[in-house]
Amino acid sequence: MKPAPFEYFAPETVDEVVSLLGDHGDEAKVLAGGQSLIPLLALRLASPSVLIDLNRVTALDYLDSGGHVLKIGALTRHRAIEKLADLAESCPMLSDAVELVGHVAIRNRGTVVGSMAHADPAAEWPALALALDGEFDVVGPNGARTIPADSFFVTYLTSALEPEELVTEVRLTLPSGSVGSSFVELARRHGDFAVAGAGAVLRLSENRIIEDARLVLIGVAATALRARDAEQTLVGREANPDAFEEAAEMVQEAIDPSGDIHGSSEFRREIAKVLTRRALVSAAAQGGGERG
Ligand SMILES: Cc1cc2nc3c(=O)[nH]c(=O)nc-3n(C[C@H](O)[C@H](O)[C@H](O)COP(=O)(O)OP(=O)(O)OC[C@H]3O[C@@H](n4cnc5c(N)ncnc54)[C@H](O)[C@@H]3O)c2cc1C
Repeated sequence: MKPAPFEYFAPETVDEVVSLLGDHGDEAKVLAGGQSLIPLLALRLASPSVLIDLNRVTALDYLDSGGHVLKIGALTRHRAIEKLADLAESCPMLSDAVELVGHVAIRNRGTVVGSMAHADPAAEWPALALALDGEFDVVGPNGARTIPADSFFVTYLTSALEPEELVTEVRLTLPSGSVGSSFVELARRHGDFAVAGAGAVLRLSENRIIEDARLVLIGVAATALRARDAEQTLVGREANPDAFEEAAEMVQEAIDPSGDIHGSSEFRREIAKVLTRRALVSAAAQGGGERG
């Protein structure tokens, strides 16, 4: 199939994009890397009458990795993050996860912000935003606002964005100090969307007591999830297999994923437990090393 006819605009500034969004509202779709939107158009699962291509808005193509806050402009591709120097040292969770996003060709073209705006519950970036205190700068005809990641992902393929709003930047806070982090997932083939995945960030004291924990999951609910109860059960405990098993069991108990052709609900719950434990073990193995 081919996309339904649409009017195409290629603005060069954010102001022009905002003005076009104001004129066309929910008739319009913003096109970034096209790695999710183009297949939807081709299958006619989406048929906007207006397409606003962001790719000439060069002011949105930046990545500022100075300090502990990673500032990611709306045209930054997955690959730019993957190629950041020392990422595996500074934030193993990010470097683990970005390599799991599709294939290199997809990472070369697809954008980080596009992935977040698409809000697929099996995508890696929404979970990273939840784990790393993500914040979204958004602009539209009614002005600018900042949306924290906790309230950005609403449900399946739905974010808190209004139809006429554009995300200009997402910021992630990279953990510093004595922290370890990791991201693991199960996919049927390398490059496929995950059946389920888990990410962990652990801050450990000198005697390996967990001072802070972040636990996130994908593929087990209508959005990426932060497992706050399981995080709480870890804080104050020694980083050891018993604590990790308990947290993983709490995650398994707390979720109620839908089944599909890739796995039943029960299978996903079991996988979520296994992946949570693995993510915690891996994060703890690096914890104690000073970061940043
Ligand atoms: C074969 C294949 C495998 C893939 N595997 C994975 C995977 O394993 N994990 C994963 O996470 N992703 C995967 N993807 C999707 C890929 O990561 C996309 O890059 C991403 O989902 C969307 O980014 P994009 O820049 O291509 O956005 P687009 O496709 O251009 O847009 C996606 C949606 O976001 C909106 N949008 C984009 N930018 C903005 C903005 N700045 N403000 C407001 N709205 C915006 C668009 O209007 C559209 O609704 C896969 C894609 C393919 C084709």
